[in-house]
Amino acid sequence: MKVFARRAALESGWASDVRLTVAQGRIAGIDTGVAPQSGDIRVDTLLPALSNLHSHSFQRAMAGMTEYRQKGRENFWTWRALMYRFLDHLTPEQIRAIASLAFMEMQLTGFAAVGEFHYLHHAAGGTAYDDPAELSARIMQAAQETGIGLTHLPVLYTYGDVGERPLNGGQLRFGHTLDAFSRLVARCNDMIRDMPADTQVGIAPHSLRATSPADLAEVVARHPDGPVHMHIAEQRKEVEDVSAVLGARPVEWLLEHHSVGPRWCLIHATHMTEGETDRLAQTGAVVGLCPVTEANLGDGVFNGRSFLDAGGRFGVGTDSNINISVSEELRMMEYAQRLFHQQRNVLATENGSTGQGLYLAAARGGAQALSRDCGALADGNWADLLAIDSTAPALCALRDEQILDGFVFAGDRRLITDVWCAGRHQVQAGRHVAQDQILSQYRAAMTGLMAKLD
Ligand code: ZN
Repeated sequence: MKVFARRAALESGWASDVRLTVAQGRIAGIDTGVAPQSGDIRVDTLLPALSNLHSHSFQRAMAGMTEYRQKGRENFWTWRALMYRFLDHLTPEQIRAIASLAFMEMQLTGFAAVGEFHYLHHAAGGTAYDDPAELSARIMQAAQETGIGLTHLPVLYTYGDVGERPLNGGQLRFGHTLDAFSRLVARCNDMIRDMPADTQVGIAPHSLRATSPADLAEVVARHPDGPVHMHIAEQRKEVEDVSAVLGARPVEWLLEHHSVGPRWCLIHATHMTEGETDRLAQTGAVVGLCPVTEANLGDGVFNGRSFLDAGGRFGVGTDSNINISVSEELRMMEYAQRLFHQQRNVLATENGSTGQGLYLAAARGGAQALSRDCGALADGNWADLLAIDSTAPALCALRDEQILDGFVFAGDRRLITDVWCAGRHQVQAGRHVAQDQILSQYRAAMTGLMAKLD
């Protein structure tokens, strides 16, 4: 397959009249300054597509249901209460239908791959399914149906809170002992043999709240290769609880007890001191920022300027999937910084464009976090490609180096024409190739689920 682009963001910078060869899902040649040939798929502006490094796909179905106040209840309560009501009823088939919708929306808004931080493992009440990997299999089915690139991240979730509190209520669907978890990871590694070659499996010890220090050390030792993802320091209460029980702030504790390095992805890391920020940046780990969800949940503002000044790596994730969009995540990331610092272009590099800098850095960081050969248009990488239309009003007057500023700050999914996931051409002319089927399955799943909730 050949893709011809009028312009493309290559590793070396912007290039014109670019012809890209894709073979076995990978980029197998890039020619610039050439003419298109018959049979080429022609697009306007070609970019490396981003990897969404953090998603809980089932939460997509809760979007819009908890945006109200209840007198006398704390803010987080309505959200968590609804999640637990969902967990009492969600069936494997509904979980698959919701994941398919979320993955399709990721592709329609510019993501070619996803790290699914998967903690829903068992039936309601904590009963194991006949196949203990039933729900991981459903996530893989959704990835196959949509064609998105998947790094599956089964979650180790053993305790209800810091200090090894027992699981209760909806949490029972998440729980594993360390041995049962290792069996699940092994089974997932077997299952991906039937998946496209870009599919991978990592591990996700949920947080310092849901794992014990001993289990965390053991699970990292048992799985010495591949991505390790973990939530950390998302809310102030978590920082206080971890400090009280473990004697150090979450990021501080983790850096003291683990050799955190490039295979680690720390999700949120919202509440860090300057010292923690600097030390984390030096490790080469990726921070997984989820700016839209962090804003929706009122988590706080990441210490972004100090982290980037110290050379820190980041990518973006859609987490709760309240609103799935590449441009929204990057825009919210910069706007939170502007509101906090009361300045413009806070996360731009010296003399650099903010949108382009954030986009290309998030592409590299997402690739690292998912251990996926992507993040740049370069020979040998998976062909994770995003095409946008620069003749649209939001972009038509912009120079090459302003195009990504236009996409991030003035654009949205309507600019997106095509998305390829490891060479699979899943979005064409702004539509997903399986859009009608995925939408009707989702509507049927939600009708069934809401009938149980009422
Ligand atoms: Zn999360």
